[in-house]
Amino acid sequence: MSADEPPDHLWQSLSPPWQACLALVWEAYCDDCTPIAAVVTDAAGNILSTGRNRIRPRHKMDGHGRGWEIAHAETEALHNLDYAGLDPHPCILYTTTEPCPMCIGTFYMSGLRTLYYAARDPYAGSVDLLGTTWYMSRKPVTVHGPDPRLEPILTALFAEQEIHRHDERLPEDHLWQKYRKTIPEGVTLGLQLARSRTLVDLRDRQRDAREMLNEISSRNSNEQIGKEQQ
Ligand SMILES: [Zn+2]
Repeated sequence: MSADEPPDHLWQSLSPPWQACLALVWEAYCDDCTPIAAVVTDAAGNILSTGRNRIRPRHKMDGHGRGWEIAHAETEALHNLDYAGLDPHPCILYTTTEPCPMCIGTFYMSGLRTLYYAARDPYAGSVDLLGTTWYMSRKPVTVHGPDPRLEPILTALFAEQEIHRHDERLPEDHLWQKYRKTIPEGVTLGLQLARSRTLVDLRDRQRDAREMLNEISSRNSNEQIGKEQQ
């Protein structure tokens, strides 16, 4: 790393499953899919399977494709898991975004019992469904999240992408009203990144996920410092 590159404390602080998730989030972003990714590990942290969002990929932006609306990261990671000879109970699902109803159901049915998510999803996030029915109360499932290091950054990536998709404006729909209320710092960061075109530039220069994270986190910490000095 050269002297003028931002420090990568955040990247270095992430465990390998989170680094893998961030690499897949960036892959999804660069493919114009919603930036959400997931990995399954064994109890020791070895990565067993991966998934990322595949809705509306870059090369097929028009219309709808088969299965696109349910091409979610967690469900893909759990589909990609080889269950032959595997005890799923000690395995762990890491996902960058709080699972939707479909993905929390898939997770619950898969036999995994531990879930980590990094960013809340105030619109479709459904970890609260656990424990709401007899069946959904049976298994000793533990959920950890959100992760305050990653939540604003992941929210910013999503917001930035939506702004570019909607004539450089963030939509005023229910989804973004909820995001503005729940994770305002992430939305603000997304607006700043859209204006500066930082992520578009990084994508066009084919920079990797670590550089993307360094760039956003240094910008985010500068914003925090700026706020504290006001
Ligand atoms: Zn989902």
